[in-house]
This record gives sequence, C-alpha cells and structure tokens, in this order.
Amino acid sequence: MELRKGIKLLRGSPNTLIAGRYVVDPGQPAERAAEIVAEAGNTPVVLLTHFHADHLTATPEGAEVYAPWGEELFVSSVKARLFFTHGVYVENAVYKGNDLKVAGLVKPGDRVGPFEVVPLPGHTFGHVGFYAEGVLYAGDALFGEKVLEKYGVPYLMDVDAFLESLERIRSLEPEMLVMGHGPVAASRRRIVEMIEANKAAVERAVKLVVDALPGDITAVSVRVIKAVAAEHGWENVLLTMTTVRAVLSKLSREGRVYMDENGVWRIN
Ligand SMILES: [Zn+2]
Repeated sequence: MELRKGIKLLRGSPNTLIAGRYVVDPGQPAERAAEIVAEAGNTPVVLLTHFHADHLTATPEGAEVYAPWGEELFVSSVKARLFFTHGVYVENAVYKGNDLKVAGLVKPGDRVGPFEVVPLPGHTFGHVGFYAEGVLYAGDALFGEKVLEKYGVPYLMDVDAFLESLERIRSLEPEMLVMGHGPVAASRRRIVEMIEANKAAVERAVKLVVDALPGDITAVSVRVIKAVAAEHGWENVLLTMTTVRAVLSKLSREGRVYMDENGVWRIN
C-alpha cells in the first residue's frame, strides 16, 4: 500500500515502511524478509526505531543495519536484547531475532535517505521515529487501542520521556502517523485521539501502580495485570514488570514512594 509517492506500507505487527531501498522496522516473522527484499531489493538499508526482537526478526540477510544510538548492543546481540527486554534472559521468548551486524548508528536530527530521525524515547531509552513527506513512522512511541487493551499497561522504560515524546509527535503535526502496532492514523483528528489514548493509558498505569502498593515489583505487577484483566501469561508479567519499574523510578524520583529493607515498595 502506497501512503505517499515512494513511501510504501507493509502491514503487520509491527508495520514496516519502505522507501526505495530504505526499510524502517522489518518486523516479524523471519519469512517476511522475502516480501521486504521483493519491495526494497537485495541490498536493503534497515533503519530500526529500537532494539525489540519483534521489530527486527525479518531483517533480510545481507542488509545494512542502522541502530539507534545507545541501542547497538541490543540490536547486535540476542542475549543482551532478551535480557534487557524482560529483565532476565528467557530462552523461549516469543520473538528473539538473530545477532545482527550493525553497520552504523542513527541519532536524532540525522538525515538517512529520505528520512529525518526524530527523538521519541520512553518505550526504550534510545527509541527514534522516522519522518518523510508528512509521514511519521513512530514505532512503539505509541500504541493502537487494541494493543493498549490486550497488555493493560503500555510497555515503557521511562514514563516522563514517553509522555514528552507524545507531545513531540503532537507538535510535529504529521499528516499521517504509522505506529508499530495499530492502524495508520491518516488525519490530524485521529492522530490527536491516539496521543490522548496513550497519555490516558500512561496516567492509568501510574495510578494502578500506586493503588497496588505496598508490594515488591512482582506482586505489584501481577496486581496491576489483574486489575485491568489483561493477558496474564508469564511473558506479560515480565513485560509489565518493566513498566512497573519505570513508574516506581519516576515516583521515587519525585519522593512519592520508597523501597524498604525487605524490598517492599511503599508510599511515602
Ligand atoms: Zn517495542
């Protein structure tokens, strides 16, 4: 599907954007690589928004891979990637991807092919977006409503950075917004709705964590998942623990919570 002249969308979860030989977030599963090569040719340049396995598993063999600054270790190493995603190394994660050779790094403000690199941290610390011709590929800087519902709380590593990135998307005023997991927002009104839905989800996550205290991180995470009746397999418990850690980091920085000598987080 052509979004703009020369900019194609390959639907998936995550979605993939292709402009000439430039491929933003190849996605998953590995077999998707054939479709990407058919569109972008045998020597694609792969641009990654962040290191998560579901965004890079379909990287074609021989592609020139660019990682966001600060995330190169997690792009190049499966073990580092999985450990940093879940907080432990899980051999049987749903998505793993391969070890990838990183050809170079992209930093906010860089121009790569037709794209400008936009800083959108929060979901991960180095997360970036790619902007061209009024189209913003925002990766996991925000999520579709169905994803928010399924997982209960948005996966993020830095609450304040995530919220600031939502505001950056608002002020960039893209005509079209492509997120990793969700439908394309093709009007300003729809884009603002998506921003607001994600803001509300983050605010709800903070409130859920506060309401689940006191407790250690695992107990708080399980309570949060139960409170929103989200998918509660072990992998979502681990993923939710990352968001809970991020919320506790924020609240502790603000002096609102503390951890006692038994590892129990409490309200100040
Ligand atoms: Zn992600």
